[in-house]
Amino acid sequence: MHVSMASTVPPRDTSPLIKIETDRRLGHEWDEWDGAPLPNGGDFSTTGTRYFVFTAIGLVLVSALSLVAVFLLAPRIATITDWLPAALYWGIATFAVLSLSWLGLIGAAYLTGRAILPERLAERGLLLKTVYLAWRVGELFGVQRDWTDHAAVVVYDRLALARTRTVSSNELLILIPRCLSRTALDGVLDIARRYDVAAFVATRGQLARRVIRERRPRAVVAVACERDMITGLHDVAGRVPVLGLTMQLPNGPCKDAALDIGKMEEFVKKYLGK
Ligand code: SF4
Repeated sequence: MHVSMASTVPPRDTSPLIKIETDRRLGHEWDEWDGAPLPNGGDFSTTGTRYFVFTAIGLVLVSALSLVAVFLLAPRIATITDWLPAALYWGIATFAVLSLSWLGLIGAAYLTGRAILPERLAERGLLLKTVYLAWRVGELFGVQRDWTDHAAVVVYDRLALARTRTVSSNELLILIPRCLSRTALDGVLDIARRYDVAAFVATRGQLARRVIRERRPRAVVAVACERDMITGLHDVAGRVPVLGLTMQLPNGPCKDAALDIGKMEEFVKKYLGK
C-alpha cells in the first residue's frame, strides 16, 4: 500500500465570506470553488438522464449552428467550388443522424444493461468525448457540471459493467484520492485486504497515470469526485478498463470525502469474477 500524505497549507483567504479549512488542499479541478457549501451536501447522486438530455441537445445545437454558419457563408464557400455548400449540408445532416443514432444505442445499452456497441464506440471512447459537451450544455441551463458528470459516470459504469472481464487479484488496482475520510479509507483498506488487491492513494492525476504505467494493471477500480473522475477516465480508460466510483463531499471538495463501500466491493468483485 502506498500512502501519500497531504501537506498543511495556510488559508487561502481570511475574509469572513470565504472559509477554507487550513488542512484542505484543493485539486485544480476545484480552483474556482468559493468556499460555499456544495449543493445537496456535496452528494451529486443522480441517474444517467441528465447526460442523455444534455448530450442530445448539444448534438442538435452543434448541427444547427453548423447549418446556420454554412448557410450564411454559402456564397463565399461556393466561390471555391459550386458543389461545396451542398456537400457541407449533407455532411452536417449525416453527422446529426449518426451522432443521435449513436446516442440512441448508448441509451439502449444503458436501459438494458447489455453491451451493444464495442468499447471504443461506447464507454472507453466516444462516450467520454461527449461528456464535455453535455456539461457545457447543462451549464447553459444552470445545472452545475457535477450533476452532469455524475450522470455520465453512471452511464459509463453501467456500460462497463455489461462487459465480461475477469482478472486475478494481482492484476487489479484500486486507486483512491487523498481526500477520503478516515472511515472511508478504513473501508477501502479492508476491501483491499480481504480481496488481496493493491490500493494506491494517488494525490494527483499525474501520479495515478504513473502508477498505472508502472504497475500495468489489467483493470482498475478508481475513486474520485465527479470532476476528477471525468478527467481521469479521459486519461486512462482508453488504455485500461476502469470502473469509476464517485464520492460525496459533505464538507466541500478535497476533504473528508465519503463513499459507498458496498458499491466499491461490488466493483472489485465484478473484476475478480466473484
Ligand atoms: S478527488 Fe478529492 S482531492 Fe481530488 S479533486 Fe476531487 S475532491 Fe479534490
